[in-house]
Amino acid sequence: MRYFPESYKRIKPLNVVFDKYYPLKCEICDKDLLESMFVEKMNGVVVFVLPKNIDNNKNKIEDIYIAFKGMCDEQKRKYYESQGFITCWGDILDLVNPLLFMQYIISILNNFNAGTISYSEKAFKKEKDFILKLSQKVLIQMNEEERNRAKNIFELGFIDL
Ligand SMILES: [Zn+2]
Repeated sequence: MRYFPESYKRIKPLNVVFDKYYPLKCEICDKDLLESMFVEKMNGVVVFVLPKNIDNNKNKIEDIYIAFKGMCDEQKRKYYESQGFITCWGDILDLVNPLLFMQYIISILNNFNAGTISYSEKAFKKEKDFILKLSQKVLIQMNEEERNRAKNIFELGFIDL
């Protein structure tokens, strides 16, 4: 941080929120996307799988998957399209921006509150998993006191990965 401030800003340390690091893996090739994004400059997408007849008032998200842009994403997308679904996606690199990360979460809350989206059980679990893992890149470093306080409140087991 002191000697390479520019690199530090770009890379950000990974395991600052939780005791250990949880990789965010591409569902197709199993490679860690968070690390590849910054080390190899590869980018990924979070993809939402929805029924073809999209209804602006109520949509059920059937699945969510994380994949590298390009080959990985395309493979999965083609599969779902052949099954009669449509997909829409978000750029994971954008979501590492703290403001856009919060906006992502708030928009989910808003949609829930308005009743405009619902999730399949699988998709909901994956959404939470995605947010928790991505937070490792977004949230600032907690000090020991904050970390312990959070642990006391949630009595461990508060993170279900
Ligand atoms: Zn992949």
